[in-house]
Amino acid sequence: MQDFAQSLEELETSGLLRRRRVVRGKQGATLEVDGEPMLAFASNDYLGLASDPRISRAVAEAIERCGVGGGASHLISGHHEEHERAEDALARFVGLPRALLFSSGYMANSGIVPALAGRGDAVFSDALNHACLIDGARLSRADVHVFPHGDMDALNERLARSSARRRLILSDAVFSMDGDIAPLARLVELCERHDALLLLDDAHGFGVLGAEGRGTLAHCNVKSDRILYLGTLGKAAGVAGAFVAGASQLIEWLIQRARTYIFTTAMPPMLAAGVRAAVDAIAADEWRRTRLRDHARRLRDGLRELPWPLLASDTAIQPLMVGDNRASLTLMERLWQAGVWVPAIRPPTVPDGTARLRISLSAAHTPEHIDRLVEGLRAVAADMTGNRAAA
Ligand SMILES: *Cc1c(COP(=O)(O)O)cnc(C)c1O
Repeated sequence: MQDFAQSLEELETSGLLRRRRVVRGKQGATLEVDGEPMLAFASNDYLGLASDPRISRAVAEAIERCGVGGGASHLISGHHEEHERAEDALARFVGLPRALLFSSGYMANSGIVPALAGRGDAVFSDALNHACLIDGARLSRADVHVFPHGDMDALNERLARSSARRRLILSDAVFSMDGDIAPLARLVELCERHDALLLLDDAHGFGVLGAEGRGTLAHCNVKSDRILYLGTLGKAAGVAGAFVAGASQLIEWLIQRARTYIFTTAMPPMLAAGVRAAVDAIAADEWRRTRLRDHARRLRDGLRELPWPLLASDTAIQPLMVGDNRASLTLMERLWQAGVWVPAIRPPTVPDGTARLRISLSAAHTPEHIDRLVEGLRAVAADMTGNRAAA
């Protein structure tokens, strides 16, 4: 065990040791964390639906009808009417023929990629894709080609050189640590040119972007039967789980072959009922998306003079690029002392030298909350740069 102790120490000294904070009560703009009230910019509850009473009520009513446990896997006796209804609602909402529920986005991607590609096939993956797409690619045993972030010329070249039986492109739709949007039209064009499929992970766009929150495909006005669209349900939708939607035959194939679908207990039916209520809330509450956009504008205006740049982002994810691991930690700690919680994101979650504060906005925030963050960041920045000059 000694070498683990040493490895932990190394993480500590390099500023990479991660600590969990204990939250009490409901998710929202303010949280009780380790007993202290904090203004939080630290969740993916972009629409503020995680503690929405309409969704809670739908889940509570479903508990009365179906209890708590999922009972069995979908292919044995766990596939419940509530799952069917949620899948139908999701497919209709994103305008695709059929949808399939998974227990989490991580499980979805790590099961879908190996179901679609195997030995002798080729997977093409954006360098900034989420860990679960990367893990899915590794599990698939296909040849994995990582292309530089957003570089469609590089992707085109790699596809052109491939003689693989099947070609599968993997991309986040909204990149989780940068907040930028993938070039969807170009991706689809390359799929068509090279007879490839695209697995598009819209964990951060579903509910947030597009008319009625239908997601990044709607936002970019892109449609193609070569796309498998993945949305997660624990972020903007405020519940848990994920779904993949696309051509009926592809979905049918995933039911037959995705191991993270087959070999796991079905999501509790009560959560599927919550998902349906969440889809209704996402569609109904346009004001939540308007508010989110207003917050982003307010934040960007307020932080213009800071020594660190905000990455260009039209989404709820607004990363402040600090660079150095320790500086990002100091910044986080100073804000924390002022009662504001913004997580520092460090390697290996992001590439070396690109540590950042990941400011995550929510419709649960008020304009005053945004102002408090802006003032806090300005004060800490003045302090840190002053200290640096004095040292
Ligand atoms: C959060 C996230 C996932 C994982 O979804 P979970 O439901 O939380 O497991 C997948 N892809 C991306 C891009 C994510 O940000």
